[in-house]
Amino acid sequence: MPLSCLCAPESLRSFDRPALVAGHPGHELKVFGWMSEYRPRLYLITDGGGRHGISRVPTSAALAGRHGIQRGETFGSASDSRIYHAILERDFSFFLNLVEELSSSFVEHSVDLVAGDAAEGFNPTHDLCRAIIDGAVLIAERATGRTIANYEFCLAEWEHGFTEKHDNGCAHFRLDKRLLDQKLQAAENYAELRDEVQRAVARRGKDYFRTECLHKVVQPFQQRQISGKPFYERWGEQRVAEGEYQSVIRFQQHVLPIIDAMMGHASLAAVDAASALALTS
Ligand SMILES: [Zn+2]
Ligand SMILES: [Zn+2]
Repeated sequence: MPLSCLCAPESLRSFDRPALVAGHPGHELKVFGWMSEYRPRLYLITDGGGRHGISRVPTSAALAGRHGIQRGETFGSASDSRIYHAILERDFSFFLNLVEELSSSFVEHSVDLVAGDAAEGFNPTHDLCRAIIDGAVLIAERATGRTIANYEFCLAEWEHGFTEKHDNGCAHFRLDKRLLDQKLQAAENYAELRDEVQRAVARRGKDYFRTECLHKVVQPFQQRQISGKPFYERWGEQRVAEGEYQSVIRFQQHVLPIIDAMMGHASLAAVDAASALALTS
């Protein structure tokens, strides 16, 4: 077996319509083993172009194509600068549209399991991606009357100040040597992320990436690792002090109101969807 499941909070083999939702293209490399085995429909929230605006969508599309992975309707059409402006301006409708688009797609494709970014306080797009997923899952579940297993994976555990947490909500997968080699090769070939990949491998060693962790979401819309000021806020303050950025994205002022808006919208939409389902059944 190229991929063995070491532990899981439930039997994962019964799910056959999985989805993978990434805030930025390239996150899928983190769960490459799971992705290549389970072939989830891949959704990308932004194009990952960063400040220079060079989209990473083509690289992720090529990677998905090589592994026979279908693309979701949401596939990086929003640029990074678009989402950053939407955050700073608290453009709720931008995020609510993403929730709606994703939930419709989950319903259309009968998605029964979703894995995506965890909210770690590292990058606001990752944290908002998590809330978009949680909202879409809630609406799709009520619209269909079926449960969608909701899992998250971390992307920042090799950064300074981040700690790993594993418990009985974890599904752990172990890659055999061949699959690990393929994963490392795919990461190396992902040109736009070469520096990040090299830094991660230098910090944790290659073998660290042999085990992949999907953690079951128990509290939707919760921020996993934020106590005090999140990393992105401190990082933004530094950039502003250096004159590189004009404004800082803040949790309380920008990110939290957007998460609250998505949570409120999803709760209301879920009630409507459940009523519509009750009328038709
Ligand atoms: Zn990212
Ligand atoms: Zn774990």
